[in-house]
Amino acid sequence: MQTIVSREIRLKSRPVGVPKESDFEHVEVAVPDIGTDQLLVRNLYMSVDPYMRGRMNDLKSYIPPFQIGQTLEGGSVGEVVASNNDHFKPGDNVVSFLGWREFFVSDGVGLTKIEPANVPVQAYLGTLGMPGLTAYCGLLEIGKPAEGETVFVSAASGAVGSIVSQIAKIKGCRVIGSAGSEEKVAWLKAEAGVDDAFNYKRAGDLVETVGRLSPNGIDVYYENVGGRHLVAALEHMNTYGRLVMCGMIDQYNATAPPAGPVNLGYVISKQLRMQGFIVMDYMDRMPQFYADMHRWIAEGKIKWQETILAGIDKAPKAFIGLFKGKNLGKMIVKL
Ligand code: NDP
Repeated sequence: MQTIVSREIRLKSRPVGVPKESDFEHVEVAVPDIGTDQLLVRNLYMSVDPYMRGRMNDLKSYIPPFQIGQTLEGGSVGEVVASNNDHFKPGDNVVSFLGWREFFVSDGVGLTKIEPANVPVQAYLGTLGMPGLTAYCGLLEIGKPAEGETVFVSAASGAVGSIVSQIAKIKGCRVIGSAGSEEKVAWLKAEAGVDDAFNYKRAGDLVETVGRLSPNGIDVYYENVGGRHLVAALEHMNTYGRLVMCGMIDQYNATAPPAGPVNLGYVISKQLRMQGFIVMDYMDRMPQFYADMHRWIAEGKIKWQETILAGIDKAPKAFIGLFKGKNLGKMIVKL
C-alpha cells in the first residue's frame, strides 16, 4: 500500500506578542498503517481558536502548554478513511482534538461520531461545537438572562459572541453588541437581530457609547475581550448584574501585565456576580445543547458566518488573523 503523507504544523518558537508565521513549522510525516482496533482519519476542517494562544506560552493553566517541535492540537472534523475498529466505518464523520494535521491514526478514544443533518460538517467546529457550547452554557447558566433584561456582548460577531447574541434574543432580552468593523456591525443588526451594535474601533469613548446604547443599564455582560470593554460594562451594570467572564482576547498577546479595570469596585457597590468558566466543565450539557440548537436552527433563529481559509499551510495565517479581527464568524481552515 502506498505510504500516506500528512502535512502538519508544529510550534517552532513561543510567540512574543502577536504570533508570527515564523513561529510555526510546516512538516511532512509518514502516516503508519493501522493496526488492530485502529482507524485512519483524514481531517476535512480544522479549527483555530483564541485559547490556543495561551497554550503557546510555557505557563501552567487549565490545559498543558504546547511543546516546541510538537504538532499542535485543536478541534477538527474528519472522515474515516480505513478502519479496523468496530465502532467506526469508512465514511463516518468524526470530531477530534487532532487538528493542525491532515491525517491521523487513532484507536477511537477521544473521537466523537457526528451525523450532520441540515448543517455543513464544519458547523461542529463552531455553532454546534465548542464555541457554541461556550456561548450556550456561559450565557444561560452563568448569565441567567431574564426576559426584558439587557445583555451586552463583546466580540459579538465572532464564533462565541454571535451565538450568545442570538440566544439572548431568543430569551427575550435587549441585546447590544460590539465588534471591530462596520461589516460586522451590519451583520449583527441585519442577521443576528441584535437591538444595537457599535464598532469599538470607531466609537471613541466606550463608557459613553455603551451608556447611550443601554439606557436601562446592563443586566448581563458577556465578556470576550477585557480592557476598555470591561470598564465600560462595569460602569453601566445594574445592581445584581452578572458578568460572564468567558475570554479576554485583548490581553492574550500582552508583553507586559495589563492594567486592571479602574472601576472594579462596582462589583461590591452594585452587588455584581462575576464568574469565569471553562467550557470543558460543561461537556455533560451536550445533549440539551444539541436539542435546543437544532431546534433554533430549524426555526431560523440561529444564523452564523464562517471565514474559511483553504489548505493546511494557511493555518498559521488563520490563527494569527483571530487577533486582527480577520474573521467574520468562525475562523476555519479547510484541509
Ligand atoms: P472570535 O470568533 O470572536 O474571534 C476573535 C475575535 O476577537 C476577532 O475576530 C476580533 O473581532 C476580536 N478581537 C481580537 N483582538 C481583539 C482586541 N484586542 N480587542 C477587541 N477585540 C478583539 O473568537 P471566539 O468566538 O472563538 O472566542 C471569543 C472569546 O471567547 C475569546 O476571548 C476566547 O478566548 C473565549 N473563549 C472562551 C472559552 C471558555 O471556555 N471560557 C471557550 C471558547 C472561547 P473584532 O473584529 O470584533 O475585534
